[in-house]
Amino acid sequence: MPRKSDPSCPLCGAPSAPEFKPFCSRGCKDRDLLNWLGDGYRIPGPPADNQGVASEDEGG
Ligand SMILES: [Zn+2]
Repeated sequence: MPRKSDPSCPLCGAPSAPEFKPFCSRGCKDRDLLNWLGDGYRIPGPPADNQGVASEDEGG
């Protein structure tokens, strides 16, 4: 391969455009952004536990 390796879109593999490097288009760029945002935005919180939450049956 005498040619220097062209960067390709990590999402779809199409040749990347200099404008959207390393992606091939704005669509892929946005998609990737959303991808990792979706992961990062996930707030690590405690699992929803119903422990201790009241029983509706209260004496009688
Ligand atoms: Zn792409």
